Amino acid sequence: MIRSGILRMDDYTQQAKAYWWVTVTLGFAALAWALQSVSQLDSSAIIQVILGSLFAAITGLFPVRIPGAIKTSTSVAEIFVFLLLLDFGPGAAVIAAAAEVTVISWRTSDRWTSRIGSPAMAALAMLICGSAFAQLFAYLHSIGLLGAGTKFTLLLALALAYFATGTLLVAALLKLKRGELVHPIRILREYAWLALVYAGSGAIAGMLHTSFGGFEFSVLSAAAPIIAALLAMLHVYFRHAEAEAAIQTERVRAAEMAAAESARHLAELRESEDRFQSAFTHAAVGMMLVSTEGSIVQANAALARLLGRAVEDFVATDLMLWIHPEDQEGLRAQLRSLEVGHESTFSTECRCRHNQGIDVWVSMNGSFFQAKPPLSRCLILQLQDITARRRAESRLQYIAYHDGLTDLPNRTHFVEQLTRVIAVVRRHPERRFAVLILDFDRFKLVNDSLGHSAGDLLLVELSRRLQAYLRPTDLLARLGGDEFAILVEDINADLEAVRIAERIKDVLAEPVYLKGVAVSTSASIGITTSTFGYDAPEQVMRDADTAMYRAKSQTQGTYVVFDSALHADVTARLWLENELRRAIGNAQIMLHYQPIYELKSMRLTGFEALARWTHPERGEIAPERFIRVAEETGQIIPLGSWALETACRQLGEWQAAYPDVPLMSMHVNVSGVQLIQPDFPTRVKQAIRVANIKPSQLAIELTESVLVEKLAIALPHLETLRASGVQISIDDFGTGYSSFSMLGKLPIHVIKIDGSFVAGIGRDPNGEAIVAGILALGRTLDKTMVAEGIETEAQLARLKDLDCQRGQGYLLAKPAPADVTESLFRDAVVGANGETSVTFRA
Ligand code: C2E
Ligand code: MG
Ligand code: MG
Repeated sequence: MIRSGILRMDDYTQQAKAYWWVTVTLGFAALAWALQSVSQLDSSAIIQVILGSLFAAITGLFPVRIPGAIKTSTSVAEIFVFLLLLDFGPGAAVIAAAAEVTVISWRTSDRWTSRIGSPAMAALAMLICGSAFAQLFAYLHSIGLLGAGTKFTLLLALALAYFATGTLLVAALLKLKRGELVHPIRILREYAWLALVYAGSGAIAGMLHTSFGGFEFSVLSAAAPIIAALLAMLHVYFRHAEAEAAIQTERVRAAEMAAAESARHLAELRESEDRFQSAFTHAAVGMMLVSTEGSIVQANAALARLLGRAVEDFVATDLMLWIHPEDQEGLRAQLRSLEVGHESTFSTECRCRHNQGIDVWVSMNGSFFQAKPPLSRCLILQLQDITARRRAESRLQYIAYHDGLTDLPNRTHFVEQLTRVIAVVRRHPERRFAVLILDFDRFKLVNDSLGHSAGDLLLVELSRRLQAYLRPTDLLARLGGDEFAILVEDINADLEAVRIAERIKDVLAEPVYLKGVAVSTSASIGITTSTFGYDAPEQVMRDADTAMYRAKSQTQGTYVVFDSALHADVTARLWLENELRRAIGNAQIMLHYQPIYELKSMRLTGFEALARWTHPERGEIAPERFIRVAEETGQIIPLGSWALETACRQLGEWQAAYPDVPLMSMHVNVSGVQLIQPDFPTRVKQAIRVANIKPSQLAIELTESVLVEKLAIALPHLETLRASGVQISIDDFGTGYSSFSMLGKLPIHVIKIDGSFVAGIGRDPNGEAIVAGILALGRTLDKTMVAEGIETEAQLARLKDLDCQRGQGYLLAKPAPADVTESLFRDAVVGANGETSVTFRA
């Protein structure tokens, strides 16, 4: 029993299933009847029927596949079927038809429904058609009408009927399976070409039967080549048709695919265009499409808002119409480079014109864009408002380059401009420039007496006046405090600079009213010009500064032009700076010691350590020269420390070597720069400890000016040192500005009267009076007084008379190296009566 599982009828409709079962049952019934009727024939007839069926089956092995009809094939095996029908009746034909279709359906289908259904249907169709044919044939024969023509006509009719019945039976199943309606006419028309094959087979069968009479072996031998030829012909024909059809199908398929593809593209394009349009219209940034000719094609709402316009205002206008004139050239250059393909995109910052006449700073990004025809290629620009950022930037820039008080350019700005001008003059030496540096005289006085706000007002007013007087091409800057600079760029810059300096005098002489007080000022002006071949701004500033300081040292309100003499000074000074650095490293500097005596007894009390520099080429260099440079460059710090440590150590060594010598003191000169170093007291104490001397043996010498200018910082250090026992001495007393009242308050032990006053003794009555005055003061304040620079016996005698306790000078002993001084130290032993034996060179 064939189970429906094997039959695989799941794709069958109910009707199709029913139809299949009915036809198959009928087909098998037909086959059973056929077998039964054939079995009644004689044995030779049965053999012929078997052979005929076998041939039909074999022919079915060579089916002709029909193009266009999927899985449809036919064969010319019907020739045998029809021959058997003619000779042995419908039973034999049914068996042969079933055999043939069995072979074909086994080969073309793996479904049991087909393998079983198709032969059953063929059997049924042949039973119906074959029986009708046999009846008609017998009848015509009986009435004697069966000639060759009638036989042919009957066979053709049979072939067509068999075709129609078989095809309908099979096709109906297919239609039912698909749930379609069965239209017999439409089905027959669809398979009409098959009718030809059947008709052909019928005709050949008739021809063979008439020529060879009966289903004999001779018929078979004649039929074989004919059938083979027919098969071959059909095969070639259908293959050709199939190839044609394949090409045709392929063409159609390709065309269909192309059509589908382009439809998809179109849809995508439309979609992307819609997306673009939507993005363009609703973008938050300003956007415009610009033709390659520079005309605006489309603008969006954000752009309209940005520039305070309507969208339509932009359309068909020139892009440049909206760009600030100063930025147009730059933008054109960018666009050109984009157009020639150097760049694929560009971005720039430029100003656009707002409806209200203000400039809007935008960041503009652009690239080419393939638009839809007729605009082949156009530019898409995006504009973003950056006005706030630009304003903030320019404000910051302004602040960085301007002075807050006077609003004038500041030093940074001035130096930058100067750098630019130096470069210009280096390329074009015929061009000249001059720099003037102004420093107001007595400005500090205004600040101190009228207050800082008055000082500020004065500076503002003066800078306003100077600015008003100068030409627009001159650059006036405030360098800081009351210092200003002017940069003059001109062919006649030198002359112009002098002219400006002359005029400034007049401009400043006009009084300025501050808090009801008329203040007239003057300025010291230093001028330098490009004739010195400068290549860095600091050189220019340095020389103008030097000239300004020279002017300050002369009468107030003068100007000094930097010249070759000043230039030589500067060069010498630069040389000294460099050499000094090397000297400190190479131990070219050593200490000399000048003895200090108690004048009454002429007993040695100590020494002053004085720095000496012997340059390998230039010889002796005076401390007055190099100490100032060292102070200005900061080299005094290592130099001073070295002097302090060396002097203390020397004294310690001597005291240790000659224990009989009473304790001597060592005076060490200390610069203001050194004194204000935070670690100065520590260094002093350390030097004392290392040298193994008593703190009271060390006296540090400070000038009055140090005490006046740096008192606030110096005082705590002095207090610390005094507390530790170190002596503090005021050097060159009388040359500075320290008031007597201040002297009383300061932690000072020793006052050294400057040599210039001592030199006046015996020469100028005033000089002697001053010395007497200072000595009287010192006594009142209980200070130890030391006279410096005693050169004559008369001076010595007078100082003794005036009760000056101590003194030093060439008369007593010149500063000398340690080994020379050592003998003085050694000889200063205490005598039997407690007096020190004194030896000094006159
Ligand atoms: P100062 O401290 O007033 O030193 C005294 C100066 O007078 C010394 O000059 C000394 O040689 C000179 N002198 C001594 N007796 C006489 C005399 O009878 N007649 C004349 N005309 N001069 C006399 P010096 O050594 O040239 O030093 C000059 C200045 O240099 C010193 O003046 C001191 O202020 C400074 N100085 C020297 N060495 C050092 C140092 O190591 N550190 C610091 N900071 N300054 C030093
Ligand atoms: Mg001194
Ligand atoms: Mg001195």
